Amino acid sequence: MPLKGTDVVKKLPEGGKKNCRECGFPTCFAFAMKLAGGGVSLDKCPYISSDVRVELEDALAPPVRLVTVGTGENALQIGNEEVVYRHEKTFVHQPGIALLISDAEAEAKIDKKLKKIKELQFPWVGLTLKADLVALQFESGDRAKYEALVKKVCNSSELGMVLISEDADILLSALKLCGDRRPLLYPVTQDNLDKVIAGIKDSPVPVAVKADSVEQLVPLTTKLKDAEIEEIVLDPGSRNMLDAIRDQTLIRRAALKQNFRPLGYPTIGFPCFMAKDEIRQVLLAAMFVIKYPGIIVLSDFDQYSLLPLLVQRLNIYTDPRIPMSVEQKVYEIGEPSDESPVLVTSNWALTYFIVASEIEGSRVPSWLCVKDTEGLGVLTGWAAGKFSGDSIGPFIKKSGIEDKVRHKKLIIPGKVARIKGELEEALPDWEIIVGPREASEIPAYLPGLVKKWKN
Ligand code: SF4
Repeated sequence: MPLKGTDVVKKLPEGGKKNCRECGFPTCFAFAMKLAGGGVSLDKCPYISSDVRVELEDALAPPVRLVTVGTGENALQIGNEEVVYRHEKTFVHQPGIALLISDAEAEAKIDKKLKKIKELQFPWVGLTLKADLVALQFESGDRAKYEALVKKVCNSSELGMVLISEDADILLSALKLCGDRRPLLYPVTQDNLDKVIAGIKDSPVPVAVKADSVEQLVPLTTKLKDAEIEEIVLDPGSRNMLDAIRDQTLIRRAALKQNFRPLGYPTIGFPCFMAKDEIRQVLLAAMFVIKYPGIIVLSDFDQYSLLPLLVQRLNIYTDPRIPMSVEQKVYEIGEPSDESPVLVTSNWALTYFIVASEIEGSRVPSWLCVKDTEGLGVLTGWAAGKFSGDSIGPFIKKSGIEDKVRHKKLIIPGKVARIKGELEEALPDWEIIVGPREASEIPAYLPGLVKKWKN
């Protein structure tokens, strides 16, 4: 179990009674509570002895290590998970979906896969859903061919990579071609462990260890940690659904419930090696999204199999305590002028995207004022007092919309027609117009309204 603040305070200077305030906290106890929650670093207290520092650093490290594959915008972070079940709190880092490309595949097929992973991107309530990695498998037996594949992917894609070969020499020579991209090396096994450690110890990159059981992973991760290679991913070798669920659950529980450090790393799952059929692979991947790999490798996908998987991933990894929202501001829909209609709505992402797309559908360029309701929809926001006339009035005044239009007509959602009076009091210079109850009525409503204004 993670260390509690009450345990940490006993380790602080004078048993937590020094209270000198040099860390910026009023007491050692306040510092300890913040430290246990991960909100401050140990360095803030200059009086902690080196022994205690090492002890606390170890005890306070997250039970599942954070691992980063790739760099820059395409870096994939996995691990740092805190719960076994999603309903306990939330899962933190969504698993990366990887597309397997073998150097034994025909050139045309490789090109098609690279094109596919680049093009299959789906806009989704303000996000872009897409696959994250390419996994390059050495299968041809021809080193030059594999290196040509690695170079090709480096030149044509910015995505993070998983390099796959049991031969450490192949892995390390491929790494020389793409080391700056921080690829994940797989598999590191009992047989090639020493060679891999020697090859990367000066400039470590993440590695994925593979064994024939969960137990056999332990000596491998221990040896890597002793060599100060700590970005480790685990593959317990299970290649059917039942074994995979058992092993993934065992690893997650050992890390979180027993705080067993040798298994405190994210895992990788290989539907591509568990089933030939693409649909079966996607079903296995859907199971892995829930339990628990940080990287899921598929041999192929298309828009019909990838999109549902990405949406499922989004749903599982969206924090249910934080509604999806968009920024509070005035949005331009089309190219609005100083005579264009002004509408107001709430900042729940779904509300915003539905209303914005219906305004677009009306072909009437408009100003859409989006009021922060902490991610609540219009009616719920009104019920919670966050979309009332009293709160919309000041927002409209501060939003800058008065500088953008010559008129002062504000269209409110029909579902909150009852705030018209309050809003007229809050915005005495504005005419408040009750708009349609449903967003779907906007395309018919707006053109008629504008025509009426012109007449
Ligand atoms: S600096 Fe250290 S000793 Fe001083 S109050 Fe903070 S935690 Fe306590």
